[in-house]
Amino acid sequence: MNVFKFGGASVDSAEGVRNFVKIVQNYKEEMIIVVSAMGKMTNALEDLAHSYFHGHEDTKNRFLQIKNYHLEIITGLFSERESKGYEELEQIFLELEKYLEKTPSLNYDFEYDQIVSFGELLSTKIISLFLTQSGRPNKWVDIRSCLKTDDTHREARVDWELSSKLINQVFNFEKTFVYITQGFIGGTNTNMTTTLGREGSDYTAAILSYILDCDRVMIWKDVPGIMNADPKWLDDAQKLERISYREAIELAFYGAKVIHPKTIQPLKKKEIPLHVKSFKEPSEPGTIIAKANNKREEHIPVFIQKKNQLLISIQPNDFSFIMEENLSDIFSTFAKYRVKVNLTQNSAISFSVCVDDTGEKLRELIVELKKNYRVRYNEHQELITIRHYNREAVERMVKGREILMEQRSRNTAQYVLSN
Ligand code: ASP
Ligand code: MG
Repeated sequence: MNVFKFGGASVDSAEGVRNFVKIVQNYKEEMIIVVSAMGKMTNALEDLAHSYFHGHEDTKNRFLQIKNYHLEIITGLFSERESKGYEELEQIFLELEKYLEKTPSLNYDFEYDQIVSFGELLSTKIISLFLTQSGRPNKWVDIRSCLKTDDTHREARVDWELSSKLINQVFNFEKTFVYITQGFIGGTNTNMTTTLGREGSDYTAAILSYILDCDRVMIWKDVPGIMNADPKWLDDAQKLERISYREAIELAFYGAKVIHPKTIQPLKKKEIPLHVKSFKEPSEPGTIIAKANNKREEHIPVFIQKKNQLLISIQPNDFSFIMEENLSDIFSTFAKYRVKVNLTQNSAISFSVCVDDTGEKLRELIVELKKNYRVRYNEHQELITIRHYNREAVERMVKGREILMEQRSRNTAQYVLSN
């Protein structure tokens, strides 16, 4: 059995959905298809959730824009608007519209999940109906009934035991060859909707694959596979044919936006191969993430760029040294604000940290640090990571730039560069 995952970019228009069907028709085996919200709908729904929560006047308008976007795709796909399927879609729009009329609770993250999840519910419904109409019967599954999570809204954690039981019951392949279901969303045991974190559909595909012991996962993207750099940044970026799970985890950790970071672990545990393929060129092989080859692997340098970094330098107020006590205090402050640290360096009297600049939350953290430390920071810096670096690769990145921080291990070199 295969698990396929299609991202928003693959189904952002009627034409995209038709292409999706063409790809699926090439595979005759049993499969589960996990789909994200269409195009940029998750961003639009985030804005809607924000407007709704704050009682802004544009709430209704935002809703209508989202509805119209989907209607345009729907009318591009189906000829008879009065079909039974169309009613089901109307029902989903109505449900969202009704929801927006209610007074919001005081919990933003909760409201966010209830609203943003409509993107995946709509996309999967449309796609499932169209696939059926195209001669491929399939079963639409509301994943919230079986992918169970805790109630950490917007970053929900999976209840593996319960999900395992329910997912095995739901996806039993007794009466169907093809299931279509939502990525990114889940449900609590009291049936409240949750989400797994932005870009979480890859992770959903991995969860299902792990629990159901699938043969392989295929993630369909708008790039030829995993590249050694973002091609929008370096135009000579090359595709990687095959990488190990370990390497994929490292790349995701350093910020390569190829695969959602949580995705690889479950696949690695069961050695399920993951193919990253282009929906624009479906017959091309893409990249395979699998068990490491026994023979020593040849690695070309991989470049990862992170912009909008904040470089914070922290010194104890009393000019004491940076010791374990200070470090543990500093780290626990970062943990409290749930800030992921990208790079650190310490000297005798100062400790430097490079983090993604997430705005307000980070400024609050700095205020807290300032109670005990002298804190300075530089905004808009760039963090470059080079895996499997060599002299030439380093030259290419740092030439003519001011290096604010540098760190090298055997396989990885990292630089914070000034802008
Ligand atoms: N639709 C969600 C997002 O854009 C999940 C995903 O695309 O993986 O974040
Ligand atoms: Mg998406």
